[in-house]
Amino acid sequence: MPLQEFHYRDSQLYCEDAALSAIAQAVGTPTYVYSASAIRENYRAYERALADVPHRIHYAVKANSSLAVLALLAAEGAGFDIVSGGELYRVLRAGGDPSTVVYSGVGKTAAELEYALEQGIGAFNCESEQELDMLREVAARIGAKPAVALRVNPNIDAKTHPYISTGLSEHKFGIGLQAAESLYGEAAKWSPLEFTGISCHIGSQIFDTSVFEEVLSQMLALAARLCASGLPIEGINLGGGLAVGYEQGQPSASIAGYCQMLSSAFAGSRFALGLEPGRSIVGQAGALLTSVLVYKQADRKIFLVVDGAMNDLLRPALYSAHHEILPVFDAGGPRLLCDVVGPVCESGDFFATGRELPACSAGDLLAVATAGAYGFVQASNYNSRPRAAEVLVDGEAFRIVRERETREDLVRGEAS
Ligand SMILES: *Cc1c(COP(=O)(O)O)cnc(C)c1O
Repeated sequence: MPLQEFHYRDSQLYCEDAALSAIAQAVGTPTYVYSASAIRENYRAYERALADVPHRIHYAVKANSSLAVLALLAAEGAGFDIVSGGELYRVLRAGGDPSTVVYSGVGKTAAELEYALEQGIGAFNCESEQELDMLREVAARIGAKPAVALRVNPNIDAKTHPYISTGLSEHKFGIGLQAAESLYGEAAKWSPLEFTGISCHIGSQIFDTSVFEEVLSQMLALAARLCASGLPIEGINLGGGLAVGYEQGQPSASIAGYCQMLSSAFAGSRFALGLEPGRSIVGQAGALLTSVLVYKQADRKIFLVVDGAMNDLLRPALYSAHHEILPVFDAGGPRLLCDVVGPVCESGDFFATGRELPACSAGDLLAVATAGAYGFVQASNYNSRPRAAEVLVDGEAFRIVRERETREDLVRGEAS
């Protein structure tokens, strides 16, 4: 099963101790459902496995930026990795501590940098000389002395989907190793910026953790060289990227195993470890609950047209991503091969093709599994569809943490 927190009890699919049918009845569909316990448990798995080394986990906000998710992680003591001023605003609104925030991204604006400086965030992961210039200028103007880590592009193949691979020199991300080293060499020129760390992030959905070992050895060597040259490097941030299992029977990459490798590599080192996990914390903790609208028997196929669509969950259309489809009521019985598609006017609007599902009819509920990461955050109003509601489950209790959008919301701010 891809989702441990989503499980069957008497033929009914549950999230923790809440029946998904009860959630659908109370909140309607399409609705994202998240397990608070799963999110906490994944976060704690990182904390437990790294207990012996100085470290900070910066949850990657872009994976799932709902306030309730951020608040839950802030309460666990998590730090945050942001990629925009908007994400910083969300973190602060959710009660996150700005000093735990690191700011990544290739295209930060001067206004965003100023906002982040004013809020006193922990560090900037800078990705170009021009960004350093801009940050230096804004910092000097407002009298700040921000901590900076250059984001190094180690030119390593993360062996993942090309759209979520970021660590090759052909990608727009980071600064090549040599260029970064020469920028560090002119540290004095960049005052009042303080170069206190190095960072990287080579991609997402990475199963082969030997790739991280390779990156880590480069980063440790770089940090040692920079220290030897007199720079006060304190931290190495390895980014996020650990994979989760999307297919039936495919386990997620082990957080404990990954952290054990990191822990032994950092044992006795003078550097603190930073990580920016996103998907591995929230991916398995969420599902998109949707209802069958139409059972459509075409020439060679059965289409189940559901009320969720690519505007709610883009991953299948964007990355050809696989998501398991779980019937919310499953009494066994014969299976039919179905395509599960949305109502949007695009042939790319599908959740799954050729899946074995029990006979379904209009009104039946399905759950699109492993939708907690890069799900709602990529939702749009395409086809003028209001965005879905979000529900957080904790034990047998559940609550709406984002109202379903209304038709009024669709035209807010528009003039005719
Ligand atoms: C997206 C991103 C992450 C999180 O990646 P996951 O694969 O979700 O863990 C971390 N750091 C940076 C800079 C990112 O862009």
